[in-house]
Amino acid sequence: MSFDAATLANPTTRVLRAYDPGHDLPTLRARFGELLAELGSNETVLGPSPRALTAMSDALAETFRYPDPQAGALKRALAEHWRIESSRIALGNGSHELLMLLAQCFADPETSVVFPEYGFAVFPIATAAVGAIGIRANALPGDHATAPYGHDLDALAAAVREDTKLVYLANPNNPTGTWFSDAELEGFLARVAQSTLVVVDEAYQEFVDAPGAGSAIRLLDSYPNLVVTRTFSKAHALAGLRIGYLLADASVVDVIERLRESFNVNMLAQVAALAALADAEHLEKVCRWTRSEREWLSAELDSRGYRVLPSQTNFVLVVLDHDAGSLEQHLFKRGVIVRPMGGYGLGHCIRISLGTRAENERLLAALP
Ligand code: PLP
Repeated sequence: MSFDAATLANPTTRVLRAYDPGHDLPTLRARFGELLAELGSNETVLGPSPRALTAMSDALAETFRYPDPQAGALKRALAEHWRIESSRIALGNGSHELLMLLAQCFADPETSVVFPEYGFAVFPIATAAVGAIGIRANALPGDHATAPYGHDLDALAAAVREDTKLVYLANPNNPTGTWFSDAELEGFLARVAQSTLVVVDEAYQEFVDAPGAGSAIRLLDSYPNLVVTRTFSKAHALAGLRIGYLLADASVVDVIERLRESFNVNMLAQVAALAALADAEHLEKVCRWTRSEREWLSAELDSRGYRVLPSQTNFVLVVLDHDAGSLEQHLFKRGVIVRPMGGYGLGHCIRISLGTRAENERLLAALP
């Protein structure tokens, strides 16, 4: 009989599927060279703070040592930055790891996790990875005035049950680019019991300029069951280093720390994040550019007859009136990579990350 370890895997793991990267990017880079426009992964093409690059090159010779398992210097800097105790911060190998850890620590097959339709893909994956009962709350309709396909906080609140351990939300959300207001979030939090953790994923929060749609961090003192996740991957442009963090009640962090791998955040990521955090000027430059480029690209797409959803992120979602597969393939053949949305149940949409102006122009020129 042939050996198949899948039959040995536990029932929860057996039904999971490995991450599908969509394309083999290293091969495509070799094929297209400079002419490849990678607009599929919501990266920040302006690049990281020069101070982060210097900090990393200074630390290179020290990499024979293990990193600080507490990331003490970075935690102190984050604590000062957010005016919060260090004991309320946990660091992750990307915020992705923290989203997974939250489910691992708090949910199980006897309990449920609520997440939004068209919400970030990791929410249902984190739920399935621990065998918890996933409850998907319907999104707002596609013709909604301010947040088409966005989170419906009423539907989410109504979906929460007594056995719900976690609710995941993203503000703004990937892949829709939509956002909700501070007032909407407060109304939601007031409806959710403290026995449910509310996780607000703020991976793109720095890019927000919509009035009244700020960070949930200011609500942490009022709602001990609130957890806010942030990342250095987007506005700080350090996606390749894998570093993110969460802010929460100290007791939440205490639980996370029990399962967190001791050296999950590598040394270069720690020093780069510390330097990036101190470079407010670079962050401001990235955010300013991102806001104006998304406005420009949205207007250009709009003038070509495409429906572009309003976005507060570093990408835009284009909604077609037919399946988007042929458009994605058309662009791909011309060296422009965008993200198809079939996996999200949005097969008639494509997500386009902001590239450099030259790449964005190449995208526009490649459109049929
Ligand atoms: N949250 C959202 C909404 C995202 O879009 C992403 C990445 O694209 C992440 C979290 C994960 O980011 P990272 O693991 O790089 O911190």
